[in-house]
Amino acid sequence: MAEKKIQAPKGKNSRIWIFIVVLGILTIFTFFSDFKRGSNEIDFRKLKDIIENHDVEKIIIVNKERADIYLKIDKIKNYPEVKNTNFIGIANSSPQFKFPIGDYATFQKQLDEIQEQFSETDKIYLSNSTESNILGGILIYILPIIFFLGIWYFVFRRMSGGGAGTGSQIFSIGKSKAQVFDKEKKVKITFKDVAGVEEAKVEVMEIVDFLKNPKKYTTLGGKIPKGALLIGPPGTGKTLLAKAVAGEADVPFFSLSGSDFVEMFVGVGASRVRDLFQQAKSKAPCIIFIDEIDAIGRARGKNANFGGNDERENTLNQLLTEMDGFDTNSGVIILAATNRADILDSALLRAGRFDRQIHLELPDIKEREEIFLVHTKDLKMAETVHPEFLAKQTPGFSGADIANVCNEAALIAARNDKKSIEKQDFLDAVDRIIGGLEKKHKIFTDKEKKTIAYHEAGHATVSWLLEYANPLLKVTIIPRGKALGAAWYLPEERQITTKEQILDELCATLGGRASEEINFGEISTGALNDLERVTKQAMAIVTYFGMTDSLKNISYFDSTGQNEYGFTKPFSEKTAEIIDSEIKQIIEIEYIRAKKVLSDNLDGMKKLAERLLEKEVVFSDDLEEIFGKRKGTNVDSIQNDENNTENLEKEEIFINLNQ
Ligand code: ADP
Ligand code: ZN
Repeated sequence: MAEKKIQAPKGKNSRIWIFIVVLGILTIFTFFSDFKRGSNEIDFRKLKDIIENHDVEKIIIVNKERADIYLKIDKIKNYPEVKNTNFIGIANSSPQFKFPIGDYATFQKQLDEIQEQFSETDKIYLSNSTESNILGGILIYILPIIFFLGIWYFVFRRMSGGGAGTGSQIFSIGKSKAQVFDKEKKVKITFKDVAGVEEAKVEVMEIVDFLKNPKKYTTLGGKIPKGALLIGPPGTGKTLLAKAVAGEADVPFFSLSGSDFVEMFVGVGASRVRDLFQQAKSKAPCIIFIDEIDAIGRARGKNANFGGNDERENTLNQLLTEMDGFDTNSGVIILAATNRADILDSALLRAGRFDRQIHLELPDIKEREEIFLVHTKDLKMAETVHPEFLAKQTPGFSGADIANVCNEAALIAARNDKKSIEKQDFLDAVDRIIGGLEKKHKIFTDKEKKTIAYHEAGHATVSWLLEYANPLLKVTIIPRGKALGAAWYLPEERQITTKEQILDELCATLGGRASEEINFGEISTGALNDLERVTKQAMAIVTYFGMTDSLKNISYFDSTGQNEYGFTKPFSEKTAEIIDSEIKQIIEIEYIRAKKVLSDNLDGMKKLAERLLEKEVVFSDDLEEIFGKRKGTNVDSIQNDENNTENLEKEEIFINLNQ
């Protein structure tokens, strides 16, 4: 399919030409053979005349259905309607007249009657011949077939989306629709074209290295991941990164989208998967890139009764089988992209499949600057425009949005007949893009941004200063999905948790809202997610862990899960009241504690918030610089023995209730 597809335009044309030529030849032949026979059909009266005039040389009955009448050469001139030559002017050896005899016996009788008076020498006798009109016969059988093939061909073309250059669609419905970049059509993208996303680049570097010199790995017996999943919001450069991997490693690149597997016919998806892998194996080492893998990789139906998604499941099963089927060192690496890793079937994420997950986030201010640098490289910019300035104007923009801004700015400048693109053109472009973006993801005002920054700084400060809270890794105010800001913590691996630890975490979770109150004197709905977590945790302290004095050592936890749907509470009304007041008290105390921590360290917290506003991302290093070394566990110590970003805890969700 690979080459086929590339040469598709040529292939398609030649196929159509062959079709036309064959049809043409057939038509000419039929015409010609008819012409050669070139004889007029006559009725019985005329036949009788000819015979009675003694003009007939011979009569041959063909296939017992037709009489071919040959005139005597010297008599032909008496019949001007007979064309004696064919179109090239050669004397015609064909019969001059034809007569449909109907029934042989009857014709014989009629002939005998006409010749009754004839002398024996004048009498003509019938001779028989069978003539098979091969061409005619073939045509009769072939024409309808050609006709139906034609219909089939067009119907299939339409059904499969009329894909450009897919003249052979009819034969390739089960073939993969992958776009192939190989020797003739190279991927020219390298890591230079991908700005920011440094961590992701480091992750894929190993894949590049493997593709370049697999020997190095295989001789040591090491195994290279078969697949990696690129996870991130749209436009963050997932496709770009995958292409860059192929470009760097200089290997063929098969690119297709998850939805390309899906077709209305049963079994097509699975057969396309099979075909894709077959092609890929023949070109190994190479990379297969499946965009939007969630189209097929969605968790398989839990309600099997509905069965409507059988086809998708078959496709997914085939993909899993293929991934298991080829051995690790065969040199085919599968990269897949999605922005919804949460809905993927867990079988896809198992070891030996997409066991590596690479996260791409919306770029922060520094990364945006780098992306602007990449995309303004070929633009004619006025001296006054700096990428740094542009990055500041575009919080929450993805790489694709930035590429869009650059292009739009160039167009605006051109429209105004400018010699170079000026600051104002970029600002106009940003406005225009934001107008389009507003529906897609949130753009927030400066005031909202400030609120978010101070809220997140509150979390960060409290968790940094409390000994038992989880160590913080980074805080951002870059929106992702529903969340407007986020703080990542590395949870310590601990088997049991003490009351102090839970309370410290509670306190840190309340730090966001506490900060809002201290700094602005008003609180926002943004803390909804925090409060939900806090309340649940406090409830667990009281009712599950028996950690309060009034309900000491009592747990209403039901490990059997049998009472899940029961409506009866396992405690009395009076106990319920105690539980309520205990929960209230815990949260109250922790909230006051959070506020105290913050007001004791107000300067540091403000510094942090401002840094967050400026840089959008703040790491544990920044916190250490502001507050000094942490009393409790440090990020470094955990990170070293467990370099696993998967376990990052917590993603803050600000809920905009106006939405
Ligand atoms: P995704 O696959 O994540 O939806 P793409 O890789 O298709 O996004 O990105 C679309 C375009 O956005 C790219 O072609 C590129 O021009 C631009 N882009 C996105 N991320 C980056 C980046 N990190 N550096 C440079 N350009 C980027
Ligand atoms: Zn919060």
